Amino acid sequence: MNAAKKPFSLYIHIPYCISKCPYCDFNSHVVPEIPEKQYTEALLRELDHYGSRDEWQNRPVQSIFFGGGTPSTFKPTSIGKILARVAATFPIDADCEITLEANPGTVDQENFFGYRDAGVNRISVGVQSFQPRLLEFLGRAHSAEEARKALEIVRQAGFDNFSLDLMYANPSQTFFELEADLDEALTFQSPHLSAYNLTFEEGTPFGHEYRSGRMKPLSEDEEVAMAELVERKLKEAGLQRYEISNYARPGFHSRHNVNYWRGGDYLGLGAGAHSYQRMKTDGVMGQRWSNEKNPGRYMALSMESGVAVVDREIIDETKALGEFLFLGLRMTEGISNDEFCARFSKSPVDFYPQITTWSDAGLMEERDGRLLFTRKGLLLANSIFVQFV
Ligand code: SF4
Repeated sequence: MNAAKKPFSLYIHIPYCISKCPYCDFNSHVVPEIPEKQYTEALLRELDHYGSRDEWQNRPVQSIFFGGGTPSTFKPTSIGKILARVAATFPIDADCEITLEANPGTVDQENFFGYRDAGVNRISVGVQSFQPRLLEFLGRAHSAEEARKALEIVRQAGFDNFSLDLMYANPSQTFFELEADLDEALTFQSPHLSAYNLTFEEGTPFGHEYRSGRMKPLSEDEEVAMAELVERKLKEAGLQRYEISNYARPGFHSRHNVNYWRGGDYLGLGAGAHSYQRMKTDGVMGQRWSNEKNPGRYMALSMESGVAVVDREIIDETKALGEFLFLGLRMTEGISNDEFCARFSKSPVDFYPQITTWSDAGLMEERDGRLLFTRKGLLLANSIFVQFV
């Protein structure tokens, strides 16, 4: 296939939320009035710009992901307008996965029928917990009842492909509460479920509480035990773990995220969105760039020239191979040794002799020409990843 015609994934960032969760370090903003019309226009302008660039022109779109922030704060007419422009700009794969993230506090039945009619075929619902106490602790803008109702509406609107997000390893969460969350989540029979452990990010209120010693995380043993409970319950229910935090029934993995983990190209539009393009010239293996994060400044830049890029990074071989391992090993299938050798002309162990030590310790293994984490390794993956980046 001509390199220029390789499929890519499109990410569209909607940076507005109805309130800010205290653990969140995403580029999300609470404003008195969401400038939906102006922001949509800025996205269209950016889309037109990239559609006219040689490196993206005529390349098929394999997945589209509306992430945030809270994309469900936008009306179906705006989402439809953006999707129509994408279709007028690029060829769209017949089986293109089109996901929209939704917060239960913004779910309205009519809107969900509208998103489906606009072309969205997958919804990701940020439930986090069904326990009122934990929702309050997490500062979520919705109740447990609203989360249940949102999941019902998503199903009624005809979305067979939907995902539910849960959060665990919250410092005040009990095993009983986690089990209750998993049991209730499973009653909705979502074909995909993400279970993230709470992290204390710099610059967030939770990060501040954690660094000042006022918020104590769970012990590593407790966290590992919770991760094991999540994996066991979801596996028993037929959801296979395919990435550290992601589980799916066969055929329902997130194609969009798998493209990130396999090091594929993606184009990000909107405030703070990142893009990545592979290349191979004179030791340069790729480039990454990111947009202005502030929504107001993003809109001004995009309306002026269609470009809102404020940062570019050239990916050299050392960085590229570290990222390829770091991202690929997040998936339970691991990485293909042949593909690694084709990209970097050596095997993973040639670059990282520590792989032998990790394999001897039972954390990694080679199976059918692939390098992957063992179950034990997946539980300790984060401490191993720091050595690849
Ligand atoms: S709803 Fe999501 S994006 Fe918005 S503040 Fe909460 S965690 Fe962040």
